[in-house]
Amino acid sequence: MIIDCHGHYTTAPKALENWRSQQIAGLKDPALKPRAADLKISDDELRESIEGNQLRLMKERGSDLTIFSPRASFMAHHIGDFETSSTWAAICNELCFRVSELFPDHFIGAAMLPQSPGVDPRSCIAELERCVREYGFVAINLNPDPSGGHWTSPPLSDRHWYPLYEKMVEHDIPAMVHVSTSCNACFHTTGAHYLNADTTAFMQCLTSDLFTDFPTLRFVIPHGGGAVPYHWGRFRGLAQEMKKPLLKAHLLNNIFFDTCVYHQPGIDLLTRVIPVDNILFASEMIGAVRGIDPETGFFYDDTRRYIDATPMLDAEARHKVFEANARRVYPRLDRALIAKGL
Ligand SMILES: [Zn+2]
Repeated sequence: MIIDCHGHYTTAPKALENWRSQQIAGLKDPALKPRAADLKISDDELRESIEGNQLRLMKERGSDLTIFSPRASFMAHHIGDFETSSTWAAICNELCFRVSELFPDHFIGAAMLPQSPGVDPRSCIAELERCVREYGFVAINLNPDPSGGHWTSPPLSDRHWYPLYEKMVEHDIPAMVHVSTSCNACFHTTGAHYLNADTTAFMQCLTSDLFTDFPTLRFVIPHGGGAVPYHWGRFRGLAQEMKKPLLKAHLLNNIFFDTCVYHQPGIDLLTRVIPVDNILFASEMIGAVRGIDPETGFFYDDTRRYIDATPMLDAEARHKVFEANARRVYPRLDRALIAKGL
């Protein structure tokens, strides 16, 4: 089977966006503040939003199951306070759960956290546990920069984050390190802020001993790892200067990269530089880059083509990238599949 570890609910019915706009309006005028119960989306509307979009493309492109989380750019943790984020995260997670119930063979959830700038990450634990226990979610998205491009939180290696890591280890779930909308004019959201954050998260781990403290903690760094695979020699050299162990021992038991790199040479490089055990298939479809590549005639985010075509992977390695690695990195997903006889 082919597991796509990175998909967001970018096609949710318009009512969701309208509710969020109302919530934001309510920050200035409390009389406008909506209740969670004011949002009404039927199962038919959910079905329609998925069947003609993600599910259609999954079938056309030959992927089977997507690890599905709320729309990343809409998380916007910088808006409002913890209560704002908490209500918003609960609503978005519930919609992903309902999608996973409507299409249990094709979607399984990953949780957005109710992060808020300057708020202790402990505040996210209740939502994390609710999503794991009640919704059967298999992962979380962790935003290393809830300020939206101003980087006001401590690095991921700081003890600030440890209470969340303890819960991740306890529940055996990985985190995809995933920022949200940039509200810093210097950083385009998907073209700069996302890739900066991927690179930054990796370097924060490299300079620390985080995985000595948490040997079983796992991060998936999306978007092909930002600049990391391309500059692997730089990172190896910096680690050497810092007297850190070789990166394979220092980071690669804990850090994994997805394949959301939207051209063949990028995937060829990723699969050449990064050990195959650390690469997970993903497309982030339907996401930031929706067009057709005029050089190939195929959609940029049709990433399966690049994996199939790269000369660096044989059949066994491809199986790891498409399925086996995801089952190892997301043990709760593996258990859910085994329970279905898969
Ligand atoms: Zn994403």
